[in-house]
Amino acid sequence: MTPPDKNQCQAKKTAGYNFMTLGGRVGEMVRCTNKPIVIATEAKLGTDDQFGSMSLCAECLNAFIEQTPKGYAIFSDPKDLPGT
Ligand SMILES: [Zn+2]
Repeated sequence: MTPPDKNQCQAKKTAGYNFMTLGGRVGEMVRCTNKPIVIATEAKLGTDDQFGSMSLCAECLNAFIEQTPKGYAIFSDPKDLPGT
């Protein structure tokens, strides 16, 4: 799986403002280019038996929180990630 990127937000957006199609229709997705402020990690195992995690900028974090159930993910500081 892809490790969280500390230098670029990993959220993808469709051309219209519609954050992450969670199991929905996949449109043309472009990756956000902002600098991330947090790393979001799924609180429960995903369907692939792995904890998914991704970096999010402030804007995408707000969208993420709006569109995911409470407690869906835990958030940590990108500085806490090991390595570079
Ligand atoms: Zn973003």
